[in-house]
Amino acid sequence: MANANAEIGVIGGSGFYSFLEDVTEVEVDTPYGKPSDSLFLGEIAGRRVAFLPRHGRGHHLPPHRINYRANLWALRSVGARQVLGPCAVGGLRVEYGPGTLVVPDQLVDRTKARAQTFYDGETPVDGRLPNVVHVAFADPYCPAGRRAALAAARGREWEPADGGTLVVIEGPRFSTRAESRWHAAAGWSVVGMTGHPEAVLARELGLCYTSLALVTDLDAGAETGEGVSHEEVLTVFAANVDRLRNVLFDAVAGLPADEARDCLCGRALDGLDTGITLP
Ligand SMILES: [Zn+2]
Repeated sequence: MANANAEIGVIGGSGFYSFLEDVTEVEVDTPYGKPSDSLFLGEIAGRRVAFLPRHGRGHHLPPHRINYRANLWALRSVGARQVLGPCAVGGLRVEYGPGTLVVPDQLVDRTKARAQTFYDGETPVDGRLPNVVHVAFADPYCPAGRRAALAAARGREWEPADGGTLVVIEGPRFSTRAESRWHAAAGWSVVGMTGHPEAVLARELGLCYTSLALVTDLDAGAETGEGVSHEEVLTVFAANVDRLRNVLFDAVAGLPADEARDCLCGRALDGLDTGITLP
């Protein structure tokens, strides 16, 4: 732990770091329990990156069982201040077919039973209980991170959808046709299962967070076939993992240096008395 330090966190699958040289595995514990897996620290373009497999390295954790609090806390505790969160999503519009990369700028929470705050008044940190804290979340994603992600995709000739709303459902089941049509009618763009509470927990720790959403299927309302299957999702994800990794690495390289950050993410807790000390 002592020599573990990173500046950027990436929450994604093992396909994003397994081929890097000199990856150091670091086990981290948190006041909220264990993260999904060890952190894997490596270097990309001179930036120290901590990778965390969101579902565990064997992909054994379903979205509703992921310890999101431990994941974000662990990343901050090794020094990460900016986080990239690639994820698989369903497209709610026919023009967002499989293989579309969406960099959303808004989020809707339709999860039901997830711990989504560090400031729960219950979990002690170093023997102290957190206060009640309400962070601003009108703009859930980091503008600088979004710019880096968009530029990285364009640099790889993969024109991304710039903006849009990610609606996050509890899962693990996919949507019914009625739910999917409802989400689309509301004007939302893509649907996933992990984007919340990941984004808000990052905000609560003053971390920059950016979602890179890869469309793996058209959601049930947007397609005429038999609806989404898990197999379809895995196939499309596998077909795109290489270029998504390239985009992620370019985005890492394009993120501002910590001290050059001009976004408000790192100041989310300014003037608030959290009652606890963040790692
Ligand atoms: Zn930011």
